[in-house]
Amino acid sequence: MDPLVAAIDQGTSSTRFLVFNAKTAELISQHQVEINQSFPKEGWVEEDPKEIMQSVYECMERTCEKLYQLNIDVSNIKAVGVTNQRETTLVWDKETGEPLYNAIVWLDLRTQSTVERLISKAPGKNKNHLKHKTGLPISTYFSAVKLRWLLDNVDEVQQAVLSERAMFGTVDSWIIWCLTGGRSGGVHCTDVSNASRTMLFNIHTMNWDPELCRYFDVPMEILPKVRSSSEIYGFMVSSANLRVFSVCLGDQSAALVGQMCLKEGQAKNTYGTGCFLLRNTGTKPVMSDHGLLTTVAYKMGKEESACYALEGSVAIAGAVVRWLKDNMGIVKSSSEIETLAAAAGSSYGCYFVPAFSGLYAPYWEPSARGIICGLTQFTNRNHLAFAALEAVCFQTREILDAMNLDSGVPLTQLKVDGGMTSNRLLMQLQADILCMPVARPTMAETTALGAAMAAGAAEGVDVWDLSVDHLPHVMREKYEPQINSDESEYRFARWKKAVQKAMNWET
Ligand code: ADP
Repeated sequence: MDPLVAAIDQGTSSTRFLVFNAKTAELISQHQVEINQSFPKEGWVEEDPKEIMQSVYECMERTCEKLYQLNIDVSNIKAVGVTNQRETTLVWDKETGEPLYNAIVWLDLRTQSTVERLISKAPGKNKNHLKHKTGLPISTYFSAVKLRWLLDNVDEVQQAVLSERAMFGTVDSWIIWCLTGGRSGGVHCTDVSNASRTMLFNIHTMNWDPELCRYFDVPMEILPKVRSSSEIYGFMVSSANLRVFSVCLGDQSAALVGQMCLKEGQAKNTYGTGCFLLRNTGTKPVMSDHGLLTTVAYKMGKEESACYALEGSVAIAGAVVRWLKDNMGIVKSSSEIETLAAAAGSSYGCYFVPAFSGLYAPYWEPSARGIICGLTQFTNRNHLAFAALEAVCFQTREILDAMNLDSGVPLTQLKVDGGMTSNRLLMQLQADILCMPVARPTMAETTALGAAMAAGAAEGVDVWDLSVDHLPHVMREKYEPQINSDESEYRFARWKKAVQKAMNWET
């Protein structure tokens, strides 16, 4: 039996545990559990840390049962990696093991006034004044302001800090701490890719930065130890025969690895809750002049150099589909949106800017809000469904244009992955709006694959050569543009007008 490698993939909308054949990259078994999100106040987005852990345990147990039914011994799993939703912020008590508040999800907007205050006090009111150290603009998106909110507003967090019981972490830290023993000696760590999304981490020195911690008034003793993305972090205490953790990667970094974008210039776009286009810039951090982030992509071993990426982040992609389902009842399932949009065939002049969490790249405007415009008596739910999918494509076009301007070497095709890419209409629409081929791997679980393969490599498992591009999962389905560029430019120009309205809807 070939060795197996596995990954816990803890995303914003669901948790998965997946097991791959280390030689062929074939997906052997998996289990997935959806995660509840709560919206306690306007703009707030929370998840329950205990539910997150419960989903991790459930996914691992169910996958192991499935392996057992396939007559596969779980001990063939040689390494487990963790990949996770980034930026989402937790604080827990290291003595009781209890979370001290819900996880504040990356999309959450409660820190908007803090962000506006910080920007108004910054030299020249420049939202990028910490970018030289962090690669990031000041925004509600990153962990530091969320942690500041917890420190200011939750008594239990304040008390735990005073009595030296508080631990801060992103979701990777929480999962690893719990699975390596929790209050009985759990390992409190994170990796450089996750740390680089907190705004407390210096992406040049690869350390927590005392000056940034002072700026956000965050006590450094509650921060996890920062490790490379690929080394042995610890041993799992609970699950039978699943033992070593050796990789931890933010989800977008893992997708970059899973798509084999390991060389400078290679890029991928992942369509999940949000949408994230990352381009590998090698060992050099490249600063954007067009609203993109500079982020640590990965550091594959203690002694290896870090690799960086330029990133265009879109807050709302699949989340708009979930909104149409959960809030509006327009579709019963996410996949039904394709049927509705196909029935419409066009948005007929309807534009939907889903700026539910403000706008991220390239605008970084927390006060933007969602709008639907261009409605007529003719408009029905099918057109809205089409406009929602088109919005995802227009937002990708905006970050791709920024990426091309920053790097000077335009991409000639877009490699894609993520939950939304099972929507073929979306893929065709994306090729049309970019006027560029879109290539989707036949095996969509590239995020988990990246983490699992890297975990195997770190454990000395003889994994397939990450540089080859001919294994079955890498075979790509290609979507070629089917409209002419004049039409695509016309639609994109109208979208841009709608964006201006979303940014200035109050004036
Ligand atoms: P995440 O990693 O952020 O949890 P996933 O990659 O699992 O996200 O993708 C889930 C998102 O994709 C959900 O927001 C869901 O609404 C959306 N989605 C899933 N299937 C489809 C589909 N067929 N068409 C459009 N959107 C979809």
